[in-house]
Amino acid sequence: NNEEAAAKAAALDADKGAPTIFDKIINKEIPSNIVYEDEKVLAFRDINPQAPVHVLVIPKSRDGLTELGKADPRHEEILGQLLYAAKIVAEKEGILDGFRVVINNGASACQSVYHLHLHVLGGRQMKWPPG
Ligand code: C5P
Repeated sequence: NNEEAAAKAAALDADKGAPTIFDKIINKEIPSNIVYEDEKVLAFRDINPQAPVHVLVIPKSRDGLTELGKADPRHEEILGQLLYAAKIVAEKEGILDGFRVVINNGASACQSVYHLHLHVLGGRQMKWPPG
């Protein structure tokens, strides 16, 4: 379908080094609602929230991490930092008792932005399995 084709095209562009919308958020060219930030990681509210708390955690430098499936050993440290930042976000948002961390990888998993990001979701009862 159209969405899948668009996602595949975006993935190809990103692999060639094209910036994504998240670069503009990192550079503060477009405003975002920042929840947490440090030297390596940025966390901001998703523009289309799927739960009362929906925050995206991203590496400030993409460094080839268009998607988790592109990770290699040099990314081990940033991957740990992203997951730890997800915990800090959950703590700041008061959802440590119940929250979900999601990574959509690839078109068939509905990834739409090809700059690795963790979704931190909470503030409501979650269902399982996800759609
Ligand atoms: O996992 P996926 O790639 O689909 O997630 C991308 C997320 O980025 C979406 O949840 C979308 O709402 C969010 N987004 C955003 N701000 C933008 C563009 C996308 O929060 N300007």
